[in-house]
This record gives sequence, structure tokens and C-alpha cells, in this order.
Amino acid sequence: MTQQTYDVAVIGGGIAGCASAYYLARRGLSVILLEKGEIAGEQSGRNWGFVRQQGRDPREIPLMIECNRMWRELSKELEADLEWRQGGLIYLAENEERLAGYAAWLEHARDYQLDSRLLSASQATAMLPGVTGTWAGAIHTPSDGQADPVKTTRAFAAAAQRQGVEVRTGCTVEEILTAGGAVSGLRTEQGEIRAGKVMVAAGAWTSRFLRGLRVELPQLYVKATVLRTNRAPEYSQLGVWCNHIGFRQRRDGSFNVAPGRAADLYIMPDCLRYLRDFWPSFKAQSGDIKFLVGRETWDGLGIMLGGQKALTRQMKRKRVLDPKPNARAVRRAFAEFKKLLPAMANLHVEQSWAGMIEATPDEIPVLDAVPGYEGLYVATGFSGHGFGIGPIAGRLMAETIADARPSLDLTAFRFKRFAEAAPLAHGGAV
Ligand SMILES: Cc1cc2nc3c(=O)[nH]c(=O)nc-3n(C[C@H](O)[C@H](O)[C@H](O)COP(=O)(O)OP(=O)(O)OC[C@H]3O[C@@H](n4cnc5c(N)ncnc54)[C@H](O)[C@@H]3O)c2cc1C
Repeated sequence: MTQQTYDVAVIGGGIAGCASAYYLARRGLSVILLEKGEIAGEQSGRNWGFVRQQGRDPREIPLMIECNRMWRELSKELEADLEWRQGGLIYLAENEERLAGYAAWLEHARDYQLDSRLLSASQATAMLPGVTGTWAGAIHTPSDGQADPVKTTRAFAAAAQRQGVEVRTGCTVEEILTAGGAVSGLRTEQGEIRAGKVMVAAGAWTSRFLRGLRVELPQLYVKATVLRTNRAPEYSQLGVWCNHIGFRQRRDGSFNVAPGRAADLYIMPDCLRYLRDFWPSFKAQSGDIKFLVGRETWDGLGIMLGGQKALTRQMKRKRVLDPKPNARAVRRAFAEFKKLLPAMANLHVEQSWAGMIEATPDEIPVLDAVPGYEGLYVATGFSGHGFGIGPIAGRLMAETIADARPSLDLTAFRFKRFAEAAPLAHGGAV
């Protein structure tokens, strides 16, 4: 029996991989999607659920405006309940300096006629009944929204399957196969697969996985913790962020609450490997990052010594990257939440979890072909804000892979920017 050859093999069952697979199939391509664990098992099922234009790196704004349009129609398009609510997003500013930063960002938003605006302290607190604290003001974007991460990612996978995509979970891709400088398929733990093109959307694993082809992509990851409360009566459909915490009320009444900035970085060999690339970020965020030594440190050393074989063993052993939530971060975030909204003081923490957020040095993704290998593409590096932008990232990757003509300019997201002489630019996200 002759083995089927797919037009495209997609690696990774997060929102980037599932949305890409769906839009590729919509364009008539034969697609297989491989996921080592389960759909939405990692970042795409563990995030806060903010779908925001507000505060983004200006280079992402055109993509996110189009994506916001897509979100409004997505439940219908995917034939699924995504818990999409367009309740707006507000960032409270604890001082004038922070408010000035928001005002500066607003200049970018104006270029695109976004509905973002500054609010006075009294306008802001009127939108959040019972909120305590002294605020200099806020920034508010009424057209932003929120959705359920797991439901959305699974809905993309299910819709992709209805379009003919073969979805294999529990299937680790061990190696990308090449012939004469072009990709020819994959070696997986379930055997070889032939494919004319391969797209890597492997989240926190991407950089280490691509190293198997001697492709260098600077990427690190940090652990971020989230908690969920028990249900409360409807309070607000706004997503809220201030210096200490971010929160949103889910449709069932419970709140997702998380520390506003804090993240845990496990010291590992890649921190040294990419120290120069990430130095400006380390310096700018040094107060927010806690450096740790732990399991990820030893696993990173194992990969350094054992190469791709060690990486494959770890991918199979871990299946789903499920780090232990930071108990102190949970306590602190919940205490801040109750201080901010004393009316919620009788709630309790029902669940907590953590996810590994991967990032690039300039904190915007890579959405591009990989130089040096014909037929190889990558969508990764969403740097903590890839859920909201995931649908358009998937559509643009499908356009790029299918006919090399994405409908929006992806120059800023090119792969080779990390190797260019000019220093990487931080675009002014807040
Ligand atoms: C705590 C937290 C809060 C966040 N909050 C928000 C938010 O409010 N809004 C927002 O927009 N974004 C948010 N994000 C970021 C967002 O979740 C991510 O940017 C986005 O989900 C990334 O999607 P992805 O598909 O690139 O990666 P992932 O969802 O991580 O998926 C990658 C998948 O690839 C699979 N994989 C890796 N290697 C292989 C292999 N070799 N073979 C097979 N499968 C493989 C993995 O198992 C994984 O399932 C948050 C993230 C976290 C962790």
C-alpha cells in the first residue's frame, strides 16, 4: 500500500497549530496535525482568556484589529460555543507615570482608529463598582473581549477535522525529515509521515526542537500562575488589569485571577545561550522575574548533554507541560483581588494552575518560512499574548504556506530578524 503524502504537516495542537490547520484545509490542502499530548494541553488551554488589541506592540495592532473582527464571527464559523464576550478591557494606572505610558501607546492606537481611550480616575472606578485604591486614571478599549481558551482551541481542532484534517494526539514528532534542502516529512513515535511542507507551532518546545535541523531561534520560557475562584453573581464583563493583578469573570461567574507581572524563570543552559538576545528584556523586567533552579534546570542540562534524543525522551515523558503553580503567587494575587474588590472577600480559590509562556527577545512572534529549508514554516514566540491573536496568525500562516501571499504585512514577524545586524526593536507594548 502506498503511503499518503500530505500537503502540510502541522506540529502542535495549540491555538496556532489548530487555527493554521483549519485555514489550510479551508484552502483545499490536505493536512495532518500532530500533538504529543492533547489539544489545548499547554499554553493555549491555560491562559487568562483575554482577547485584546489594547496595549499591544504597535506592529501587532493591524493583525489584532482584523482578528477582533474574526472573533465576532468565530462561534458561528467554528459552530461552537467559545464563551466569546465583547465586554471591553481596562488597565487601571496606579500613578501618573503609568498613565503617561498608556497615553503614549494611545498615539499608536489613533493611527488605526481604535476605540481605545483614556479615562479619569472617577470614570474608571465607575466602571468597576466597589473597587478600592487610588488611581491616576485608566485606559479602556470597549471593543476588546474574552473567550474560553480550551473551548476555542478545541473548536478549531474539531472544525479542522470536519474540513478533513487528520488530527493525531499522543503523537510526538521526533524529527523533521529533509532531502536536498527541502522538507520531505516527519519521523514520529507512530512512524514516518510524508509531507511536502511542515509548519512548526510547538510553543515552548519550538527553539529546542528546531535545533535538530541546526536552526537557531532565540526563545525562552517563564512560568506564570493563574487561579480560579468559586462562582459569584455577575459583576462585570470587563477584562481588568492593574500593576498587581489581572482578572476577568468567566461566564459561569467564577473569576480568573493572576499576578499582574510576576513570572518564574528557571535557570537553564538556554538562558546563557540566548543571554545577549534577552539582556534588554531581563534588565527592563528584572523586578518582575524570579530566577529559580528546579526540574526545568536539570532537564535543560539533560538536553544540552544528550541533544535531540534527550529532548524526544522529555517530550514523551512530559506529554503535557504542566508546571506546579507558584503557591505564593496564588496567595498574593488572591489577597490583592480581595483588597481591590472587598465585596468578593467571601470567595475562595477553587483551582490554580500554571503554564510556560514562551517568548522571543522582542516579544512579538515569528510567522514565517524558515530560511535554509524549502517547505519549512514556523509560528511561535507569541510572548504571552498569542491566544487572542491566534486565529489571524493561523489564517496568515495558511495564506503564506498555500500561496506565499499573506493578506497582511508580516515583515515585522520575519524569522531572520534575529540574525540581522540592526538591534531588535521593542515596539512600545504596555
Ligand atoms: C498563564 C498564561 C496566561 C496567558 N494569558 C493570555 C491572555 O490572556 N491572552 C492571550 O492572548 N494570550 C495569553 N497567554 C499566551 C497564550 O496562551 C499563548 O501565546 C498561546 O496559547 C500560544 O499558542 P501556541 O499554539 O503557539 O502554543 P501552545 O499552546 O503551547 O501549543 C504548542 C503545542 O505543541 C505541542 N508540541 C510541542 N512539541 C511537539 C512535538 N515535537 N510533537 C508534537 N507536539 C508538540 C505541545 O504539546 C503543545 O500542545 C497566556 C499564557 C499563559 C501560560
